[in-house]
Amino acid sequence: MNRPLRRALVSVFHKEGIEVLAQAFIAAGTQVVSTGSTAKRLSELGVQVTEVSTVTGFPECLDGRVKTLDPHIHAGILADMTNADHAAQLEQFGIEPFDLVVVNLYPFADTVRSGAEADAIIEKIDIGGPSMVRGAAKNSATVAVITDPADYALVAERVANGQGFSLEERRWLAGKAFAHTAAYDATIREWTAEHWTKPASLTTTEATDTPDLTLFPDSLTRTWDRARVLRYGENPHQQAALYVDPLHTQSFAHAELLGGKPMSYNNYVDADAAWRAVWDMTGHIAVAVVKHNNPCGLAIGATVAEAHRKAHACDPMSAYGGVIAANSTVTYEMAEQVRPIFTEVIVAPDYEPDALKLLQDKKKNLRILKVAAPEHAVQQFRQIDGGLLVQSMDRIDAPGDNPQTWSLVSGEAADAATLADLEFAWRAIRCVKSNAILIAHDGATVGIGMGQVNRVDSAHLAVDRANTLDNNRNRTQGAVAASDAFFPFADGAQILIDAGVKAIVQPGGSIRDEEVFEAARAAGITMYVTGTRHFFH
Ligand code: 5GP
Repeated sequence: MNRPLRRALVSVFHKEGIEVLAQAFIAAGTQVVSTGSTAKRLSELGVQVTEVSTVTGFPECLDGRVKTLDPHIHAGILADMTNADHAAQLEQFGIEPFDLVVVNLYPFADTVRSGAEADAIIEKIDIGGPSMVRGAAKNSATVAVITDPADYALVAERVANGQGFSLEERRWLAGKAFAHTAAYDATIREWTAEHWTKPASLTTTEATDTPDLTLFPDSLTRTWDRARVLRYGENPHQQAALYVDPLHTQSFAHAELLGGKPMSYNNYVDADAAWRAVWDMTGHIAVAVVKHNNPCGLAIGATVAEAHRKAHACDPMSAYGGVIAANSTVTYEMAEQVRPIFTEVIVAPDYEPDALKLLQDKKKNLRILKVAAPEHAVQQFRQIDGGLLVQSMDRIDAPGDNPQTWSLVSGEAADAATLADLEFAWRAIRCVKSNAILIAHDGATVGIGMGQVNRVDSAHLAVDRANTLDNNRNRTQGAVAASDAFFPFADGAQILIDAGVKAIVQPGGSIRDEEVFEAARAAGITMYVTGTRHFFH
């Protein structure tokens, strides 16, 4: 049954857009009860407002922490007026019921993003607002609740025409309100999980085994805001949307689109992989070219244009229709190089103005993404049926990622240039799907074998690609190679040795390590063992 909206409770932090409500209240003669500054704004707009403190007989106190938390307000919200007993009780206590509750909450997430101090952030945890919203949503039998300013016009229309909302409509609004308070609390929880970690005094023996509880809170409540609905998912018959973390607005998912068509689901997956490949190449200017989530070229250079030339040269055929990521500002020289190459997306922290203009003007379809600052997720999620796996990000910060910790197990210690190439290959392999074998030379990949179900196939693939894709040059001779995990047998390493690589870096740890080391020794090549692996599945 429709219920006319005769008495409204309005308490909104953001006052934008309430003019339309004010006009409707005035025209319909709605009774309006409101908190401090909302009351002030509504009266400026000509609405006859009753202050909450008049209804409660109690002033707002504790810096606004207690404004509406009072039975005169909450009984008015929670009384189910289809229930005669509730109606009688209100009568007895001299409390009037509300038909409409309009609330928007203190901006908690905005305050966190502004870089405010903890005290200011805590002050922006709204208490009375969510209580009113939840009360009104629970009592959708008789109350309509509005939390989204986008719904003001709709409410104004229903106030004006005296029709109010039907039960079905009130229930739908109630669901929306519960989603709003749930997301609000989840955001608060996300912030506390990051800042208030479990103290040692509360840590049980069992929990001490857990490496870092800030990564793995007891329950995982997070808010992901829908940023946009995408045209379709991985395939056209799948529906899709992008959700973003409201607290980490500098990260990749929030990247600004400076040109080209809207990003697709696959564009996001590939561009994220490309960005991941370059962002922790700390200390180097790096460029990656990615196709289907795997790099088809990755290089470092003295300039971003040089890095791009080298990355592209690894596999020019696969680079067609790829995604390019750079970890430093894209220059005009690089933009000129990209111009003739069919590319889906380019991602970078910034673009020189003339480089951006060139890409925007000459490559109308190229999606140009600018990622604000190097802010990266610390947790990685992977959905499994009915569950979620969470791990810390795989970064180049494991003990074995530093070449000074590597053990030489075959041949002579590498000279400086070779060691630099080995280090590059080792850093680069982290973004190649397992099983991964990567051949590199002069700070650039020359052959990548990825995603195979055995290491021999990956080794063959890496060698074949190195030696066929760039005008059939032999690029493995004198190059170096990396393997993301140990060689279970000597055969995979032997393929690389036979192809002429002069040095290999690999984690070691196989029960047949000695056989693998022996193959390297027999060929007289250098082999280092890192003790760290970088699987990427
Ligand atoms: P106003 O700007 O009208 O002074 O206050 C509106 C804001 O106060 C809204 O965001 C509303 O959610 C919040 N609010 C209303 N009642 C209470 C309360 O009792 N305690 C707290 N902490 N916030 C409240």
